[in-house]
Amino acid sequence: MILWIDTETTGLEPGCILEIAAVLTTDELDEVSRFHRLVCADDPVTLLNDSEPIVREMHVANGLAADICNARIGGDRTAEFGAVSMFRSWAEPLVGDTPVPLGGNTPSFDRMFLLASGHRSRAFDFLSHRHVDVSCLNELARRWAPTIYAGRPQAAKAHRAMADVENSIATLAYYRAQGFIGKDKDTE
Ligand SMILES: [Mg+2]
Repeated sequence: MILWIDTETTGLEPGCILEIAAVLTTDELDEVSRFHRLVCADDPVTLLNDSEPIVREMHVANGLAADICNARIGGDRTAEFGAVSMFRSWAEPLVGDTPVPLGGNTPSFDRMFLLASGHRSRAFDFLSHRHVDVSCLNELARRWAPTIYAGRPQAAKAHRAMADVENSIATLAYYRAQGFIGKDKDTE
């Protein structure tokens, strides 16, 4: 299994999670379950105003700012802690005893925000330290297979968490279908 994740945040530093989406897939990339949570502040306008300008513009354009203002639950760091707790409660029973890799587009970024949300690292024991990072494949394809790279899937709604998760999964499936990762000879 692979646990795919994407977080939208107020920026890199100091950053606060605004939205979490995750999808658990089989090794063959078939969806098992999905999770989505907005992380809303008591004062969403101030929260968004504290965001990095380029991030704020992006989240106004893609509708996340409006969704946060309309949802009205929780409060900044407390809400973030609660949302990450819900993510953990959703994922841990599904994953079982064998730690799964975290998938996504540079999921090291998302892992950093999960760990910074007030949870101790042991809270994520169900995760392997390994990543399935499609940005690595994008970087290699851009250099070695530019035509394949140009045809990669584009997110339906970029920088919205679930759309970005779905795009990461679709991107890996695309590279696999293109033969970017070949099959073992005895399984052909
Ligand atoms: Mg994203």
